[in-house]
Amino acid sequence: MAYDGPMPSVTEETRGFFEAARRKVLALHRCRKCRRWYWPASACTACDNEPFLANMQWEEASGKAEIFAFIVARRTFHPQFQAPFVYGLVKTAEGPLIPCGIDVAPHEARVGLAVEAHFVELTPDYTVPRFRPVQR
Ligand SMILES: [Zn+2]
Repeated sequence: MAYDGPMPSVTEETRGFFEAARRKVLALHRCRKCRRWYWPASACTACDNEPFLANMQWEEASGKAEIFAFIVARRTFHPQFQAPFVYGLVKTAEGPLIPCGIDVAPHEARVGLAVEAHFVELTPDYTVPRFRPVQR
């Protein structure tokens, strides 16, 4: 079935993220000066810095994370997202939280569960990262 769900919001601040996702790379913003990670941010809040992405760059992240918080959706609100499914915040190994779909059975989802990024091609132009339990 062709994807007909909502499309990601691509802005100047998030373009590099989606370009990396198309290459199946999880990218996070990183401050060039103090090396702190963000997802995404237009300016570093940890050091004296310039606004409008001046000192931010996209860097490849590990793709490793853990579930920080989640909900189990039990009603289908769009045919593209069949309930039940898990949606939540993952805390990346680098620090930033990412809101995303988590591909885990609802009864197996728990805070602290180790997850890793994988990539789903929505359309030929848009690939999005999702997270799933670490494959052993
Ligand atoms: Zn900084």
